Amino acid sequence: MRISLLRDPSEQPILIVTLLVILVVFVLVAGPSLCLVPLGAVLIVVLAYQMNQAHHREIMRSATRITSQSAPSLARLAAECGQTLNTGPFELYVLPARQLNAYTFGISSPRVVVLYSPLLKIMDASELSFILGHELGHVVLNHTWINTLLGGMAGMPPSLGGAVIFTFAFRWWNRACEYSSDRAGLLACGSLEKAISALVKLVAGDVNTQAELDLALQVLDAQDDSPVNVLAESLATHPMMIRRIEKLREFAGSAEYRQMAGAGK
Ligand SMILES: [Zn+2]
Repeated sequence: MRISLLRDPSEQPILIVTLLVILVVFVLVAGPSLCLVPLGAVLIVVLAYQMNQAHHREIMRSATRITSQSAPSLARLAAECGQTLNTGPFELYVLPARQLNAYTFGISSPRVVVLYSPLLKIMDASELSFILGHELGHVVLNHTWINTLLGGMAGMPPSLGGAVIFTFAFRWWNRACEYSSDRAGLLACGSLEKAISALVKLVAGDVNTQAELDLALQVLDAQDDSPVNVLAESLATHPMMIRRIEKLREFAGSAEYRQMAGAGK
C-alpha cells in the first residue's frame, strides 16, 4: 500500500510555499544579521522540542495508558488501525476531559495518540477507528514532527508582520494536513458513512438517529455560505467541517481509495 496516496494533493505544494514564506520573512527581517539565522533556527528547534516534551509529560500525568490489559477492545481497535496504516509502534492514552478532541504528538518513536474521554462515550467502534486512523495519519504522513518544528518556529516570529504571514502560511498547511489525515481515517474505518458521522459528532456531539445526523449535516452545509466563516477558516488550524466532509466524499469515490482499500483486504 502506498501511504503517499493518502496525502491530499494540496499538502506538499502548500508546505513548500510555507517554507519559502518562512525563508523570505527571515531574510527580510534578519537583513544584515542573516548569518545568525542558522543559529536562531537551531535554538528554535531545540526550544520547540523541549516544549513538546513538557507538554507530553503534562498529559502523561492525567491520562490513562490503553493496553490490552487495561482496555482490551480499544487496544485491539487501535492495533488494527495501526496495522492498516503501517504505523509502527505507538502508544494510546485516554485523557479525562470535557471536550471532543484527539491529537497526536512526538517527534521520536513511539508516537503518542491521545483520545479525550467523551469520544469513547459518543462514538461507536467504526467511528473511533476513523478518529484513530486520522490521528495515525498525522504520524505516517510525518505531520507530527514537521508540526513540532514549524509550529515552534511559528511561535517565535521575528516581527509582528512576520508573525501574521507565518501564521497564515502555517495554518494553511495545517488545514491541508487535516484533509490528508481524514483520508487515513477513512482507510482505517473502511466506511464513508461512519467517517462522516464521526466528523459530524466532533462538532454536533452525540447524534443518535439518521434524522439527527441529517439535520446536523444540513446545519454544517450552510457553513461555507457565510463570508465570516470563510475568513475565520483562513486563520484556523482546521478546515470547515463541511469542506472536510466534501473532500472525504470525493476521495471515497476515487481510484486511489479503491486501490488502497482493496490492498488492505
Ligand atoms: Zn488532525
